Amino acid sequence: MHRVTLIPGDGIGPSIIEAARRIIDASGAQIEWVEAAAGESALHAFGNPLPDATLTSITDTRVALKGPCTTPVGLGFRSVNVALRQELDLYANVRPALAFAGVPCLYPGLDLVVIRENTEGLYSNMEHWIGNREAAIGIGVNTRSSMERICKFAFEYARSHSRKKVTAVHKANILKKLSGLFLEVAQLTAPQYPDILFEDRIIDATAMQLVRAPFQFDIIVTTNLFGDILSDLTAGLVGGLGLAPGANLGERAAIFEAVHGSAPDIAGKDIANPGAVILAGIMMLRHLGLLAEADRIETAFRNVLREGTSVTRDLNAETGVGTQAMTEAILAKMG
Ligand code: NAD
Repeated sequence: MHRVTLIPGDGIGPSIIEAARRIIDASGAQIEWVEAAAGESALHAFGNPLPDATLTSITDTRVALKGPCTTPVGLGFRSVNVALRQELDLYANVRPALAFAGVPCLYPGLDLVVIRENTEGLYSNMEHWIGNREAAIGIGVNTRSSMERICKFAFEYARSHSRKKVTAVHKANILKKLSGLFLEVAQLTAPQYPDILFEDRIIDATAMQLVRAPFQFDIIVTTNLFGDILSDLTAGLVGGLGLAPGANLGERAAIFEAVHGSAPDIAGKDIANPGAVILAGIMMLRHLGLLAEADRIETAFRNVLREGTSVTRDLNAETGVGTQAMTEAILAKMG
């Protein structure tokens, strides 16, 4: 029996997490779910968007499946998502962008992975107003040790997943120190992996190339903010946020979640695609060594996508079904 912390989150979170939980249970995976609260819902219930009990639970189980958590824009409490990654030192954010058969998308057959440094850069939480909001300062911090571990992680990931190439994405032409340190470390790490091709690219040119010719990329490794932005972009190349999962990995714990947020615009309407969080659940099962269970879900999920009828409206605008119906279709395929 594996103990896993389950965080429903906000907005569409509870409904898609419930879908993923049912599917994972139906796969035969022996999981004991330990429910914990985070986000706006936790703020209302406990007066704290990230209760100590939630951090303790993840430290204890070492694995969590998490729904998206709302972060107020421009004011209010600090992002729970960023806080979790920093508190638990989940330094590697792995975000695959995979085009599934049957899903209409810009680039059928695309299969790349964005690996994002998850704890530093411009997410240092050091921001100041100057004067009466006349100016604002935000401090980015990249340490050599964190740059080393994320670059090493990317090359090791490439090796263990039979990938051919790592592209380090930076802005070292302008941010000569903040981004320059990342580039320097990537260039020093690459020769230790002669079996993996290496190149570096500037972020702006990468964004354009990703839209025009994404097949030249395999693994992208980059710093925190660039990885956040590029992984939404790469999701858009393969069918949208509804199919983009992510893993936040560290030595002490791992949190699996969708790339997307709490989507307040569609919450409570039974139209959210549960796919991204189901794919995150598959990544979680593989992390736990439950390979057969992960394969069982993936096969059923791929079949539902291939048929293209029992999928949510973001994937089939004409005859798309609801979150619940898509979940039932996957469960039915699992037998
Ligand atoms: P979002 O990702 O929630 O939504 C962007 C767009 O994609 C919306 O139109 C939404 O309806 C659509 N969408 C997202 N997920 C979908 C799904 N599963 N099925 C169908 N459509 C889907 O981004 P946002 O609106 O900018 O952010 C909303 C909130 O989520 C914010 O408070 C933000 O801070 C938070 N957020 C949280 C996380 C996280 O928990 N890891 C990640 C990103 C954003």
